[in-house]
Amino acid sequence: MQYRCPKCQSPKIIPVAQAGGPTTRPVVPKSLVFLISAIFILLLLVLISIAMWIFGDGAGTTLQVATVVIFVLCLILGFLFYRDLPDFKISMQGFMQSQKKWKCRECDHEWEI
Ligand SMILES: [Zn+2]
Repeated sequence: MQYRCPKCQSPKIIPVAQAGGPTTRPVVPKSLVFLISAIFILLLLVLISIAMWIFGDGAGTTLQVATVVIFVLCLILGFLFYRDLPDFKISMQGFMQSQKKWKCRECDHEWEI
């Protein structure tokens, strides 16, 4: 099993969609999707808070409460994802092994395993 480009040894390889034949896709756990969304919202809230501190009289109470709530949510989701991680790894490995055609992003070289 090779996860590097045979031509330039770059690890930046991407799977090429196989024509015909069922392609197994890795199962992305819902906790990861929610975690990414929550982190995105948290970043947004933090940015708004910082902007309000700079341009106004500081972040409002509602905003502060919302930031704390989302932060706690991120921690919970992080923990849930941590529990899903072993399954996710197995699913990803299954996908990598079933994937026969690869393409290198560095040198555009395509090959089949
Ligand atoms: Zn390459």
